[in-house]
This record gives sequence, structure tokens and C-alpha cells, in this order.
Amino acid sequence: MEERPKKRIFIGLLVLTCLILFCLIFLLWYVPLVGLKNIHASLPLIFSVALGAVVFLMVAGGLLLIFTILRGRDIFFSHKLRGLVAKVLFPFMILMGRLVGVSKEKVQQSFIELNNHLVRSNDHRTQPKNLLVLLPHCIQDFDCQIKITGNIKNCKGCGKCEIKSLIELSDEYHIKIAVATGGTLARRIIVENRPEVIVAVACELDLTTGIQDAYPIPVIGILNERPFGPCMNTKVDIQKVKGAILDFLGSRV
Ligand code: SF4
Repeated sequence: MEERPKKRIFIGLLVLTCLILFCLIFLLWYVPLVGLKNIHASLPLIFSVALGAVVFLMVAGGLLLIFTILRGRDIFFSHKLRGLVAKVLFPFMILMGRLVGVSKEKVQQSFIELNNHLVRSNDHRTQPKNLLVLLPHCIQDFDCQIKITGNIKNCKGCGKCEIKSLIELSDEYHIKIAVATGGTLARRIIVENRPEVIVAVACELDLTTGIQDAYPIPVIGILNERPFGPCMNTKVDIQKVKGAILDFLGSRV
């Protein structure tokens, strides 16, 4: 049975990081305090206020993130929180995960889950023409000779792989769909199509880098399934893709 990625792994690592940072900040505050007093009488106060502001921002950001997750809806700044999580916190969480024995894959899954939650919290409704579904090449049947990168509609619809169903989904909702062989092509597809929102299917590594690279474009990431190992004849739950599409299209369909 597929294990559901947990947002709480990321939150737990975040809380642990905050505790360690608080200890470091305390030391940073306490140790030079005596020396600063010798330079100027008011320096300890200025220093304390500056560090206090850093601690306040950390606590406020952490609480906002946790409340947004618990409430499941945007409180405020959730699009900024998404950027903070993707660009700043995620690399720290990978490091922290390594220290406490949580695998990189688990932290990546947790990050994807958290990102999806924040994207959904923000109600990014859009028109079908602004939605792009981005797929990995490994989802195509390994023995299929048809070239679908460049134009996925070259698919003959034989049904040996899920490309057929995914094209049908894109036709049903009138949305754009494309296949990328890697990060460079994915970036080019995004630049050419200029989507407002993306539903991306990929493995943990490609999804996490994709979500980071695409920011500020909101991405709902869906992990592929790999019954034959990585990068070959991978699968995706079509209902999850459909659910993500409907999350973005909302009442427009
Ligand atoms: S569904 Fe399309 S892409 Fe998949 S094997 Fe058949 S022709 Fe090839």
C-alpha cells in the first residue's frame, strides 16, 4: 500500500530547526553582550532589539505557516510562505532530516504535500487556457516508438500507457498538456506556454526542483508510481490529476 506523504515530517523538522536556532541566537545574544557594553553603553540594547526582531519574525512566520496548514485556507501571505518554504526552508529541512535520520525522499514527499496544501489554501482559480499539465517522459510505454515530446497529441491512443487517459482529460477540460524529458525542457515548456498554474507529475526529485524553479507560479505536484523501478513505465493516479485540475478550475467547469 502506498504510504501517504506527511506534512508533519516537514513541520517537525521545522520546529526542531527553530529550537536549535533559538539556542544559537541566545548564545549570540549573551556572549558578545559584555564586549559590546565596553564599546558603547547603548550597543547591547540595539543588539538585543535586532535579535529580538529576528526571533519575532521566525516565530510569526512559523505560527502563520502552522495556522495556514491547520485552517486549510489562506490567512495572509500564503503565497509568500510558499516561496519561503520552497526557497529557504526546504534545503535546511533536508540537512536537518539527515541529522535526525529522516531520508531525503521522505522530506521531499513532505515538502510536496506541504506545498500542495499551501497552493490549495490560496484559491488560485484560473481559466482552462492558463492551466498546464506537465508530465514526465517515463510515463510513456517504454516500447512505444511514437515521439510525444514536442507534441503529445502524436499519441495514437492505443491505451498501453496512461498518456491516452491524460490527453482525454486535457481535451475534456480544454487545458494544455505537455511531456518533458527533464528540467531544461520543462522550463522551456513553461516559458513558451506561460501558464498561470501548473499540475505536475514526476518523481520526488523532479517535483521538488520543479516546484522551486517554477515559483511564483503555483504548482500542485503529484508523485508518480514506479512499479517497474524509476524512470520506466511509471504510472499516475488519473483521479489525483483530475482532482488537482478541478482545484485550479473550481467553478469554471
Ligand atoms: S497510449 Fe500513446 S504514448 Fe502510450 S503506448 Fe499508446 S500510442 Fe504510445
